[in-house]
Amino acid sequence: MKDCVFCKIVKGEIPTNFVYKGKDVVAFRDINPMAPVHILIIPKQHISSLANVKDKDKDTLGMIQVCASKIAKKLGIDNAFRLLIASGEKAGQSVFHLHYHLVGGWKEPSIKMESEPGGLRK
Ligand code: AMP
Ligand code: ZN
Repeated sequence: MKDCVFCKIVKGEIPTNFVYKGKDVVAFRDINPMAPVHILIIPKQHISSLANVKDKDKDTLGMIQVCASKIAKKLGIDNAFRLLIASGEKAGQSVFHLHYHLVGGWKEPSIKMESEPGGLRK
């Protein structure tokens, strides 16, 4: 979609530090990390939010979780990571191309379940 920053990343129009490039899914480092490791995993296809997924998206959504597991292992954070999704502006979504935040690598158990993605940035 025109004017979507993550579509531009998929098309290579914005220089990006990719950690994974697949058929339907890519992953890259967040420019404003909220954790020692902060990766964004996105479908290549433009889907605006988790509220707007369709039955046909189920394989892509499944692949995102498989990627999260593989990337966590590859980056050595598979003993401490979270996969977070904000859906809707009031839930903290700021980029309206579906993305999963893979955050992790903490050395201490300091993260609370009720924290939302933006709240972890402090
Ligand atoms: P959210 O607030 O859940 O929609 O998350 C959007 C995320 O995208 C934020 O963590 C931003 O730091 C990140 N972000 C925005 N633009 C870029 C970019 N060009 N490259 C990498 N991450 C980005
Ligand atoms: Zn997009």
